[in-house]
Amino acid sequence: MSDITLRRALKALPVLAALSALPALAQQHAHTHGRMTLDVAVDEKTLTLEIESPLDGFLGFERAPRTDAERKRVSDMVARLNAAQQLFVPDPAAECTLATVTMESAALGLGEPKKDGEHAKAHDHDDKKRPDGKKGHAEDEHADIDVDIVFNCAKATQARFIDVKLFDAFKRIRAIDAQIATPQGQFKRSLRPDAARLNLVR
Ligand SMILES: [Zn+2]
Repeated sequence: MSDITLRRALKALPVLAALSALPALAQQHAHTHGRMTLDVAVDEKTLTLEIESPLDGFLGFERAPRTDAERKRVSDMVARLNAAQQLFVPDPAAECTLATVTMESAALGLGEPKKDGEHAKAHDHDDKKRPDGKKGHAEDEHADIDVDIVFNCAKATQARFIDVKLFDAFKRIRAIDAQIATPQGQFKRSLRPDAARLNLVR
């Protein structure tokens, strides 16, 4: 893609462009169990939610599953995240329907690594060595999961809030650091189990 094409593409996506102008903020968060970050972009016809979380918040462990019980936890997690309309309920006024959910976690072999690609590939490679008795990960190594959720909405900019049910589904998650980008501007919100409505109006 040429620079000019890229610039044109970014101009067509003002909100996404605004989000990408904040890489320092997006990458600043530390891996803290019980916390996750949520980037929300409100565009004319879409609501886009990007989760980045320690795997611990969703699973209670941060490596490939080793037992049937752990494999079930992973498949339950995937099923719950795929039903994202039950975890994130946008303001009915926006008339949204869930469009796509994509997950990426190198530790679980989920999705295509897009950020930090070489690091993730190294992990995949290590995991494959396991049958030989070699450990791919140190026991204390941490791992994350990224989840991207897109809603198509008739009137996305009419959304005044998103009700976040994630705390009910995943009890280990105790705090969400949200960053919201709307056509009106950008701001941050903190969510907790007893304050789980994400207000989209500044
Ligand atoms: Zn961890």
